[in-house]
Amino acid sequence: MLGGKGASLAEMTRAGLPVPPGFVITTRACHAFREHGGALLPDMVDEIAQEIRKLERVTGKGFGAADNPLLVSVRSGAPISMPGMMDTVLNLGLNDSTVVGLAKKTANARFAYDSYRRFIQMFGDVVLGIPHYKFEQILTDVKQQENVAVDQHLTEDALQRIVASYLDLVEQETERPFPQDPIEQLHHAIGAVFGSWDNPRAVVYRQIHNIPDTLGTAVNVQSMVFGNMGEDSGTGVAFTRNPSTGERGVFGEYLTNAQGEDVVAGIRTPKPIAEMARDLPEIYEQFLGVCRQLEEHYRDVQDIEFTVEQGTLYMLQTRSAKRTAQAAVKIAVDLVNEGLITRETALLRVDPDQLVQLLHPAIDERAATTTLATGLPASPGAAWGRVVFDADDAAQWVKNGEQVLLVRTETTPEDIHGIQAAAGILTSRGGMTSHAAVVARGMGKPCVCGCDALTIDPSNRACVIGHQVVKEGDIVSIDGATGRVFLGAVPVREPELSEEFKTLLQWADESRTLNVRANADNPEDASRARAFGAEGIGLCRTEHMFMSADRVPVVQSMILAGSTAEREQALERLLPMQQGDFYGILKAMDGLPVTIRLLDPPLHEFLPSLEELIARRATLLAYLDNPTASDSDADDARVQRLNAELAELAEVETLLAKVRALHELNPMLGHRGCRLGLTFPEIYEMQARAIFQATAQLLQEGLHPMPEVMIPLVGHVEELRRMRALVERVARQVATEQGIELHCPIGTMIEVPRAALTANEIATEAEFFSFGTNDLTQTTFGYSRDDAEGKFLQTYLHEKVLLENPFAVLDVDGVGALVAIAAEKGRHVRPNLKLGICGEHGGEKHSIAFCHDNQLNYVSCSPFRVPIARLAAAHAAI
Ligand code: ADP
Ligand code: MG
Ligand code: MG
Repeated sequence: MLGGKGASLAEMTRAGLPVPPGFVITTRACHAFREHGGALLPDMVDEIAQEIRKLERVTGKGFGAADNPLLVSVRSGAPISMPGMMDTVLNLGLNDSTVVGLAKKTANARFAYDSYRRFIQMFGDVVLGIPHYKFEQILTDVKQQENVAVDQHLTEDALQRIVASYLDLVEQETERPFPQDPIEQLHHAIGAVFGSWDNPRAVVYRQIHNIPDTLGTAVNVQSMVFGNMGEDSGTGVAFTRNPSTGERGVFGEYLTNAQGEDVVAGIRTPKPIAEMARDLPEIYEQFLGVCRQLEEHYRDVQDIEFTVEQGTLYMLQTRSAKRTAQAAVKIAVDLVNEGLITRETALLRVDPDQLVQLLHPAIDERAATTTLATGLPASPGAAWGRVVFDADDAAQWVKNGEQVLLVRTETTPEDIHGIQAAAGILTSRGGMTSHAAVVARGMGKPCVCGCDALTIDPSNRACVIGHQVVKEGDIVSIDGATGRVFLGAVPVREPELSEEFKTLLQWADESRTLNVRANADNPEDASRARAFGAEGIGLCRTEHMFMSADRVPVVQSMILAGSTAEREQALERLLPMQQGDFYGILKAMDGLPVTIRLLDPPLHEFLPSLEELIARRATLLAYLDNPTASDSDADDARVQRLNAELAELAEVETLLAKVRALHELNPMLGHRGCRLGLTFPEIYEMQARAIFQATAQLLQEGLHPMPEVMIPLVGHVEELRRMRALVERVARQVATEQGIELHCPIGTMIEVPRAALTANEIATEAEFFSFGTNDLTQTTFGYSRDDAEGKFLQTYLHEKVLLENPFAVLDVDGVGALVAIAAEKGRHVRPNLKLGICGEHGGEKHSIAFCHDNQLNYVSCSPFRVPIARLAAAHAAI
């Protein structure tokens, strides 16, 4: 009810710190004011008068008294701090007569008129709505006439002229003289501060930070102290530790002979706080003491506003300081070591989301050039590369030793090999859950998407970013953490986990009960995940292994095979490749479980698109129709080319027929997952064999591989029963062939509602469930993610039909209910059923809390998010 500022002023007063006396009008009054059509209620008017009388007694001054005037500040103060978003009026109580009194009383007329002109300007701006620049214009004009550069060099005389012009300005603008009655001034100022709760920048700030509009602001009426009374006076802001690094030691800035916002206004350059040790040594010592006292009292780093009036220090505000991720981690650990907070508190002090900044390579800010444009920060990390506009080109260039940035309008599953090859992805369309964003995050690859200022001109192999024309091969950098796009190669800093960070994560491990695994499809990711603390792999997608450039032709010949025998031939060639992959991954995760999902996506994802083929056929046909039209070569060269084109046409026709046959109206719900395994068992057999042969190899080397085979997209227990039998058969075969014993848990993904609802049946065939919450969200809502994002989801979120994007934050009420049902039913028939989650939600803190509450065994997320998940799991457990 007191608001953050009011509460901290009250608390500092109680702690005996030097705080100018005042009173707080609560947020409840703000509600009443707003309900009352923006007017003070009679009760409030009475109470304010009483409090002012009290303040007069305490200060020995009189509100409106010409000989010894009481001046006050009227300050906003919301329950959740919204720095600089609302309004404050200083020096209230001045008028044409009190200013004379103040001048006489302080024997400092310059100061009195300086205060008055500040007051008229603030009151004019905040209460009367007169544009700020009109006052500034007058001020600038007088400074020019007087030939002075800075405000504090203005003479008393000049300040008087400014005051006179200001008063005229107010009268012109409002058609009324400037209010001279201090009580009237006070009522207006209080109303204006209440009203500033609804000013546009405050409203936007609340939207961004999810602060409820209903909170309202308190108003602090506080007697003034003056930092503008000469060189032994001043004002400043300070942090009790460095808010960007967390280093110990007071950090901040101050100005002598200045008031209020002068320090942040940028008119004069403030001095580093350390210089106060020279300018005002005793005050500085006292100030350091207060900083220590406040830190100890609040047990956290404080952000402090203070003023010195003629050698006396006053505290005007304190609050917990905002800080960078690096500082948050260091401060949390330091405060534990200093005995101020417990480990649990330290863990809770660091927001898991903040850690993202620390886990990815980042743009070296010292070297950052001008930004060309800014898009959505879709996948953190920084990268530079040569611009290419096509996934095939990306793969080809990388093969030739180039580093590339894949720039597309948007991406589709067909671009996956290009995404994999590229150092980073930049798209002009699509939001935070667009294909590019999801895939890039999954791979831990930097991505900026939805960059409106990017237009691609494919025919010219060029694009425009902002105002810059960028051609294929030009170098561009992106910062996926902020969405910025730069021209040229901006240096990138590798992330390094500080000692404090490692300590904090150790404490997290002591607190959490959820295990944390990673989603990884290759040995490098597996090792990185392990280094970040992953306790296994929760999802190893095998399709990415099919997508590297050298394998695509083999995979295609498998798909295009006319008969089972032909298909088996292609699979024969894929087997050693897959076995090599599994060998590497299982080795990197030696001694830890690795859940391998058998092939999941529809097969046509591995083939060229229908459009592409039709276009190619049209070009070929056009040429064959009229082979001489554009051909001036010698005859045999022409014949050669004709033959080549004919051969390609035949190929294209076959491919086209196959792609047509595989074409699905709705591939997400089509021929994929275990449906592939049931119709083409030889594919799953090959994969199972590759897994078990790799396992055998590692066992023979004396290692401890722990594969777990996962069957995707099961909706009916019979699907799982048959696929399980297939995998077990292969396991027995390999075990006999190799003369070893093989134990491999077999389980399924729960990603369609029917599987969740019949989990009791499915659990009879599964040793584990892994909730594939990406698909489960699609199938539960009936949204196709790729379509939802671009078509209606943004509207839904904007109009608050949905409060969160369910692909980013697990929908606890719907999708979560299915998870809970499946967990319960599954464990009922198989008490030791292992439960995990492997959708993107596995790295998101709210979803992790849900998993903890439902007693899942583990969450699995992208390698870079493993530390985030460790901390979030600790938060959930505390
Ligand atoms: P904000 O919430 O924007 O920081 P404040 O209410 O804290 O606004 O006021 C801004 C500044 O005005 C303070 O940092 C301080 O310098 C000055 N100020 C406010 N109240 C007083 C006061 N009673 N005496 C002297 N200066 C004050
Ligand atoms: Mg302030
Ligand atoms: Mg799935």
